[in-house]
Amino acid sequence: MVNLKSEPKRQTTPDTRPYWDALAQRKLLLHRCQDCGKAHHYPRAHCPFCFGCNLDWEEASGRGSVYSYSVMHRADPPYVMAYIELEEGPVIMSNIVDTPFDKIRIGAPVTIDFISSPGSDSPIAVFTQNDC
Ligand SMILES: [Zn+2]
Repeated sequence: MVNLKSEPKRQTTPDTRPYWDALAQRKLLLHRCQDCGKAHHYPRAHCPFCFGCNLDWEEASGRGSVYSYSVMHRADPPYVMAYIELEEGPVIMSNIVDTPFDKIRIGAPVTIDFISSPGSDSPIAVFTQNDC
């Protein structure tokens, strides 16, 4: 279980408001560029691949795989930072939860979940490995 001691500082702009509103409802949104067709995460005003600004929101499936990870053994309690490759293409930084550290492996399928830090009503996206 991840123990969030402090909530990350969030900067909401008119461009990112839909993302944060969806996250509050336990949905992860991606931007998909209508010019080149690629999805990206985190939200921004221009496509990082072709610099187009014709972007649409879409809800992520919540499925992906472990791209890389690191166990923070010195934290109390220890936790796992990971890069998750979403099936839509973007690689996002997140946490792997509810999975024994010694069972985590690169390429393993994961599913999204959402957790909130104490005192916060805004969850963050985390992932659980499916085959443990
Ligand atoms: Zn593009």
